[in-house]
Amino acid sequence: MKLVTFTLDGRPRLGALRSGKRGDQVIDLHRADPRLPADAVAFLRAGKRALALAQQAVATTSPEATYDLSAVTLKAPLPRPGKIVCVGQNYLEHAAESNAPRPLFPIIFAKYANAVIGHGEPIVIPAAVQKPDYEGELAVVIGRRARNVPEAEALDYVAGYMPLNDVSARDWQGRTSQWVLGKTPDTFCPMGPALVTADEIPNPQDLHIRTVIGDEVVQSGYTGDMIFSVAYLIYDMTRIMTLEPGDVIATGTPSGIGAARTPPRWLKPGDVVRVEIERAGTLENPVVAE
Ligand code: MG
Repeated sequence: MKLVTFTLDGRPRLGALRSGKRGDQVIDLHRADPRLPADAVAFLRAGKRALALAQQAVATTSPEATYDLSAVTLKAPLPRPGKIVCVGQNYLEHAAESNAPRPLFPIIFAKYANAVIGHGEPIVIPAAVQKPDYEGELAVVIGRRARNVPEAEALDYVAGYMPLNDVSARDWQGRTSQWVLGKTPDTFCPMGPALVTADEIPNPQDLHIRTVIGDEVVQSGYTGDMIFSVAYLIYDMTRIMTLEPGDVIATGTPSGIGAARTPPRWLKPGDVVRVEIERAGTLENPVVAE
């Protein structure tokens, strides 16, 4: 199932995408079945029962709960994640292009909810940022409270996956040893368009991932090349930190970032950036200046 958060008349609602003869449609899940919550985190907390009810709603829904995709505005699938845990240098070729050694442990940093936007919403470059860059990544969304999770069971705690762009202000990222300020300017965490539930992606390490600006492919990678797998990342961080339903893990970017090009290729107003991941969908955002 492809879960979305959308607005219609300004109110956020939880929906499921359905493709059919009439084109792409969104089912308002709470309207289709009032037992289903109206927001994504409550839906994830409700677990497998909610997913089963939602599948039923999508199969049988009434016209009053169905909208053409073009009639609604998509927001990020998780509009206010409790945590956005990011992994740095998790692909060997990207570590090399960043002049960094192979990491011995996952390099963890954060983005905050102020940075989150959805598919189609603009990445706004602050006037104070001179070196804005893209990083296409596979994002993992946690579905069950997770603490001390064995690696072999870790994927049971995943609700699903989506493309994410870890947009980065390289000038601010490099000012000090801590990257966070360069990673979390407003609008610098596009994600979506949909949270694709884990039953549709049994193996997160077998997905091709590309970042495309206009018609130029700037990153082309394979999630099997991650240094630390999704399961290992969940195992390792839940030894000391509880992950909650709706928390997001950005699993790192393959090589090809703008900073490593000669000359560097910074994002600029007028660019349209796409992160395409097999099975997980295509996230597209225009770039504008503040
Ligand atoms: Mg990144």
